[in-house]
Amino acid sequence: MKDLTRVVHHPKIDQSGFESLTVPTYRASTIVFDTAEEYANRKHRGPDGYTYGLHGTPTTKTLEAQLTALENGERTVIVPSGQAGIAIVLLTVLRPGDKVLIPDNAYPPVRGFCVNYLAPRGIDHAVYDPMIGAEIADLIDDQTKLIWMESPGSTTMEFQDIPAIVKVAKARGIMTGCDNTWATPLLFKPLDHGIDFSMEALTKYVGGHSDILLGSISVSEVALHRALKDTTRMLGIGVSPDDCALALRGLETMGVRMKHIGEVSTIFAKRISGLPGVERVLHPALPECPGHETWKRDFAGCSGVFSVVLSPETEPYIPAALTAMKTFAIGASWGGTRSLIVPMSVRNDRVATPWTEEGTILRISVGLEDVEDLWADLDMVFREIGVASVGDIAQDI
Ligand SMILES: *Cc1c(COP(=O)(O)O)cnc(C)c1O
Repeated sequence: MKDLTRVVHHPKIDQSGFESLTVPTYRASTIVFDTAEEYANRKHRGPDGYTYGLHGTPTTKTLEAQLTALENGERTVIVPSGQAGIAIVLLTVLRPGDKVLIPDNAYPPVRGFCVNYLAPRGIDHAVYDPMIGAEIADLIDDQTKLIWMESPGSTTMEFQDIPAIVKVAKARGIMTGCDNTWATPLLFKPLDHGIDFSMEALTKYVGGHSDILLGSISVSEVALHRALKDTTRMLGIGVSPDDCALALRGLETMGVRMKHIGEVSTIFAKRISGLPGVERVLHPALPECPGHETWKRDFAGCSGVFSVVLSPETEPYIPAALTAMKTFAIGASWGGTRSLIVPMSVRNDRVATPWTEEGTILRISVGLEDVEDLWADLDMVFREIGVASVGDIAQDI
């Protein structure tokens, strides 16, 4: 072999005796075959085999297998983001003339996808009250092919009666999918409840460090996996093995992270409840959270994201109070090591169930910083906005 070949061909080395605790990052576009026959027959390797880097490497398949085990599923597909996971489920199930039902509190880009992408292509949607439960039967017509769920819902934290909705869907032969990002499979396993597609934004708790974007879709049936893989293949969608390696690393600490932030978020929610300027605290451990009983029945605990509905009088004091925080950062997304707060307004998003509260909603994501440092920030924020607004009310009287 001459040098110009040597620089291109890596020598095969003996890997026997090398056992590490980490998952190697296998990057590939081309996958090579030992014989011309194997290459000619590569399509017969099916969606579980290796044919081309876009469709999976041992690194991506390790993450898929680990999530499949956690979800009590049969197969998992990794996709480039949580939003991609939702879009791919909808594109896989729905055909022109079909209809999907989505909850009024869904992650907002879901509605955007229905309105701006699916509707012009002849796929209909209807928006339902997330607390609808078995009455979803009244919204089902011959067009309806998929019920999408998100429990709890983004920002407004309603816990859905998933078993009741699945029961109706199964009786009518309708598929179901659930965005399980808040709970992760550690707190809730959608497939155990008969959901067809369990979707997670791995970007959040699985990644756990605010540095990757990935999503997953887990299913209990090989046929559904094949259908999902058909969609990703047609659209040319694959994921980076480097991102999957980071997700595999994040997954190792997810158990202790979730336990810690669940405990801290519960403590904070209880302390904030009833403070001046606070109308409601939307955290499942509090009875005022919509679906509190459902959460107690169906979930194994809480994660670190919850919301606080403020009174309208606090409005002028919110920006300065948030800007003065020392430990919390202001930013969207969540699930990393850093604690985050964002001021939200959901009133313009609602169509099925009007949101009547006028005050801002603070969405809080608890991270891994020292609990006293975090509480010092929250204590300051709620003093600033609470005391000031109570002063306003006193003046009004
Ligand atoms: C963040 C999020 C998504 C989207 O995930 P990306 O990876 O950012 O696209 C979907 N659903 C929920 C509930 C989320 O919080």
